[in-house]
Amino acid sequence: MTIHFSCTQCGKCCHNLRLPLSLAEASAWLRRGGDIELFCEAIPWPDEPPESDAQAMHKRRLSFPVACGALPIRVVVTVVAAFDGACPNLQSDGRCGAYEQRPRVCRIYPAEVNPFIPLTPVSKACPPEAWAADKPVFFADGRVTDAETVEVIQASRSAAAQDAPLKERLCAYLGVSHAALANEGFVIYAFERDVMLKALERLQGDDISALPASQWQFVSNRRATVDALSSIEAHYAVSSSLTQAHERYMEFFPTDL
Ligand code: SF4
Ligand code: SF4
Repeated sequence: MTIHFSCTQCGKCCHNLRLPLSLAEASAWLRRGGDIELFCEAIPWPDEPPESDAQAMHKRRLSFPVACGALPIRVVVTVVAAFDGACPNLQSDGRCGAYEQRPRVCRIYPAEVNPFIPLTPVSKACPPEAWAADKPVFFADGRVTDAETVEVIQASRSAAAQDAPLKERLCAYLGVSHAALANEGFVIYAFERDVMLKALERLQGDDISALPASQWQFVSNRRATVDALSSIEAHYAVSSSLTQAHERYMEFFPTDL
């Protein structure tokens, strides 16, 4: 499949977003006055998959291992810049006011960082004319053609892998210990800007062994899920029990408990 693309500078991709960031990018975003959220999900991980399982290895790189009752799990914490409406960096002339410091995810758009998510123009904010056949080739033979974009994608994947163990410490500092079952929803944490920035700054020097072990819990809004978790002695909570102001559940399925 060959995909042609050229940005029309319509600005649509700078609105109503949750932009995945590295931890370094998150600190910079907060210092510029933006807001950050943590999207938490977890994968039951009773056994180590074979290295030939590329998708499992990808998930492994992005996650950290913890115990959830009797069940070993891996937690994926995605740190996102969060804004409704226009990005706080978007200028009235439609240009990015933080162009030189913009996050990697902005630099590669509309390409995907996740190698298991195909590039599909219909899922992107770009208008049809951006994908016209007379535009330069952007994607061919299963890969992005632009060398600079490829480099940024690689840097983004490396940063995500390096950040994964640091996110365990970040969660310990912040008291984050709830995660949705992957593909069923997210537990979303939104702390005050200074609280989040201070926690990120603490990552620079502390020893992880000095931190208390986390007591992670799955959170679900579905009867079948909590019954299954209960049967394997995993810790769980129902979504309606999340009552703290900085914590909420995003469901992918209707609540049935
Ligand atoms: S940082 Fe710049 S490029 Fe990224 S969403 Fe904001 S305005 Fe758009
Ligand atoms: S939505 Fe697409 S075409 Fe519009 S500014 Fe963003 S990258 Fe460019």
